[in-house]
Amino acid sequence: MNRYQDQVVAVTGAAQGLGRAMAERFAAEGATVAIADRDGQAAAKTAAALAGSGRADEVDVSSSSEVGAWIDDLDRTYGRIDVLVNNAGIIRDNRAEDIGDEDWHAVLDVSLGGAFYGMRAVLPVMRRRSYGRILSFSSMSWRGNFGQANYVAAKAGVVGLTRALALETARQGITVNAIAPGLIETPMLASMNDKGRDKLTNKIPMRHTGDPTDIAEAAAFLCSPGARYITGVVLDVDGGIGIGASIR
Ligand code: NAD
Repeated sequence: MNRYQDQVVAVTGAAQGLGRAMAERFAAEGATVAIADRDGQAAAKTAAALAGSGRADEVDVSSSSEVGAWIDDLDRTYGRIDVLVNNAGIIRDNRAEDIGDEDWHAVLDVSLGGAFYGMRAVLPVMRRRSYGRILSFSSMSWRGNFGQANYVAAKAGVVGLTRALALETARQGITVNAIAPGLIETPMLASMNDKGRDKLTNKIPMRHTGDPTDIAEAAAFLCSPGARYITGVVLDVDGGIGIGASIR
């Protein structure tokens, strides 16, 4: 399929993990993909390996001015941004009483702040052409998770932000959605301890973790022109873990 031919797709946190898998998928379907990542070198490597034309910029999404400058530059260069994927996110897990101010703000500023700054900056560009797809990254954790108060707050915030913005853009050809991944094999998941990982994997109805391409597949659909009547949704891509408790 070539659903992204002639489109400009911007993905944050795409040097590795889910962002990279999505960048590869969008590029394979014809998009010019612009990667923003705080790790500029890794981002450049990823962009260079993409099919077609890729571009990488060193951007810290927790900085509103850096995100604004990145989006402005993409608009000046290409004259359009069809898709924005707010994917960058970090974890700093701890019990609530042990989360220091820095770890509270860092997690909120990247996942929630980054998504907001990206949306706010890209809206005028999308409105001008009456077309746009905005996709942000929540997590299965948004419903609550032990030892992740900062992350849960950020990812639940992404759900609220997505739903609010979907209403504000519904008549403008712009859709705003979120994906809530379960356990997907990326460097972020690798940073989790084996015990916690095994415990969680046993709770997945499908009994296995996901592959980054599972997320890329969902993103490539939600951000495609054909998904024009879908807005404000949070799509669980999680092997069924979001369904809830299971006795088996
Ligand atoms: P990852 O840690 O493997 O990759 C994250 C990327 O974001 C890295 O390239 C990193 O350099 C970049 N990044 C981090 N902070 C940044 C910042 N301030 N500015 C710009 N770039 C920054 O993570 P991943 O597993 O690929 O996760 C991607 C998204 O999916 C995140 O929002 C994460 O919370 C969410 N998620 C992942 C899983 C999972 O199982 N992997 C589950 C649920 C949700």
